[in-house]
Amino acid sequence: MKVGVLALQGAYVSHVQAFVSLGVEALEVRTPEDLAKIDRLVIPGGESTTISMLLDWNGMRAPIQESISAGMPIFGTCAGMIVLAKEVLDGRDDQKPLEAIDITVRRNAFGRQVDSFESEIDVLGLDEPFPSVFIRAPIVETIGEGVKVFARVDEKIVLCGTDSILVASFHPELSNDGRIHEMFLSMEPLGSQG
Ligand code: GLN
Repeated sequence: MKVGVLALQGAYVSHVQAFVSLGVEALEVRTPEDLAKIDRLVIPGGESTTISMLLDWNGMRAPIQESISAGMPIFGTCAGMIVLAKEVLDGRDDQKPLEAIDITVRRNAFGRQVDSFESEIDVLGLDEPFPSVFIRAPIVETIGEGVKVFARVDEKIVLCGTDSILVASFHPELSNDGRIHEMFLSMEPLGSQG
């Protein structure tokens, strides 16, 4: 299995390292040619308005949307979650999300006082709490049908997904704990079951 990490901007190096420590080959993805070499993709944290703009500048928007429609598993963390959302609140007017998952996301939703924090969170399917790092994190305000909630902080949804899309408000790649990456690796491409 070959994982790709979108490497246009943001915290992609830590994601590559997280996969390497799980013994999985991970590739930095910058072009449609790179995308063609991988089986699943991570959109990392960073700055969602910048990532969104760079998707267009690098001709990556349509190829990624096609891969998602074809059922390729995809994992968005923090800014990556915003980029994958159907709707973005408190975004920039020209910020265009990929609309890959039926969620409404609010940017920087924990407020200035709690810009960044760490929290042990309970995650559906994990026996022990997961140490999570939140950095100017978004939250998921509403979810559509078929979206499953895996974790909340103060009642707010911070980890959710569908059969092939996983999104996190926090940065699992910064925790030295590979369990959320393993959750992503266990997702099957759509259409491959049975
Ligand atoms: N607040 C950033 C944004 O809106 C996301 C922060 C992050 O990825 N750590 O893009």
